[in-house]
Amino acid sequence: MQPAFTPHGLTLTLLLDHASPPARPNLAGMTRDELRAALVAAGVADAGKARMRAGQVWRWIHHYGATDFARMTDIAKPTRAALAQAFTLARPAIASRQESGDGVVKWLIEFAPGVQAETVFIPDVAGSGALCVSSQVGCTLNCTFCHTGTQGLVRNLAAAEIVAQVQVARDDLHEWPTSREDRRLTNVVFMGMGEPLYNLDNVATALDIISDNEGIAISRRRITVSTSGVVPQLKALGERTGAMLAVSLHATRDELRDVLAPINRRYPIAELMAAVRAYPGLGNARRVTFEYVMLKGVNDTAADARALVKLIAGIPAKLNLIPFNPWPGAPYECSDWSAIEAFAAILNRAGYAAPIRRPRGRDILAACGQLRSQSAKPRASALRRMAAPAGPS
Ligand code: SAH
Ligand code: SF4
Repeated sequence: MQPAFTPHGLTLTLLLDHASPPARPNLAGMTRDELRAALVAAGVADAGKARMRAGQVWRWIHHYGATDFARMTDIAKPTRAALAQAFTLARPAIASRQESGDGVVKWLIEFAPGVQAETVFIPDVAGSGALCVSSQVGCTLNCTFCHTGTQGLVRNLAAAEIVAQVQVARDDLHEWPTSREDRRLTNVVFMGMGEPLYNLDNVATALDIISDNEGIAISRRRITVSTSGVVPQLKALGERTGAMLAVSLHATRDELRDVLAPINRRYPIAELMAAVRAYPGLGNARRVTFEYVMLKGVNDTAADARALVKLIAGIPAKLNLIPFNPWPGAPYECSDWSAIEAFAAILNRAGYAAPIRRPRGRDILAACGQLRSQSAKPRASALRRMAAPAGPS
């Protein structure tokens, strides 16, 4: 390599020496518009044919799960070669895969060096199953019962990285093409790592992609976004995505919710309930789910159950009682089964469906609130070292 003559010549030369060839853009997580624009920009389709070409490629990616342009047999060979030269369809690396005794599968996906998030498939008995996806690596909030909350935020996941979680699961479950009648992955829940409403743009774009009828085709009514209660974003979530809403309530008094879910200090219960009542499209056919984690001696008495009934009166709602899932060092215990059943009975008598979420995948720490990755924010000192100009060697 020719030395570069600039005032910082040495530095530049070192950087160039280590520079890798520019990465090929990945088409697998792009929106339809981005895909069309990318094909035109790379000269693979002219503007007149771009819509048709993008439609073909889209179907191969999102209906058939293609990860190789060679499979796209209705596209002429030279065009396929041009696509392969300009783009990639590669999936992110799977750092680990674990399967629990009860059929739950957990993938730890590495999106970039050191940036990992977990995705969990929870098969159901009735032929349907939910994929629990992450929206962030870590979380800025620190709910005291949640393992992810102990990690801190590393970063938001991009829309493509959220979509990739569904693609990785489909690959593993052999569920391409989308139209398979026996598919087990039928629902998506944003209940993995992170607070989806702090990454709403990317969550909404990912939702557009995975609900597209000519692609993965999971309808918006089968996609649930769970929030700890980011009140100012609730309306936008409903209007932008049409997703089903789940709210992590866990307490009916501000003093207690302030401790369990500290976001409550910013948006207290009364404001949260007002925003839920105003959620776009809420009705008997589209109920909000209130999640309530059962913590022994903390929020699980009959009086708590009655207070809950009073609080949600008039809201088209269902309850989801989540037995607390322990994790190393957790400051809580799960309520006794008899207390959970008594709590559910009070809700049922008041007319609410209140299924108790069976703990699944606990043996591999894949249950709700047990997810935590090893990813860590690079320390400021490490970043400074990486950014420092190279000295003479
Ligand atoms: N940040 C969002 C979505 C991710 S958490 C939210 O808080 O809603 C998904 C669900 O898991 C939430 O209802 C959360 O309260 C629950 N959860 C967290 N830790 C848990 C634990 N240890 N046991 C049981 N449920 C837990
Ligand atoms: Fe974040 Fe949700 Fe865990 Fe709270 S419960 S720390 S909001 S992931």
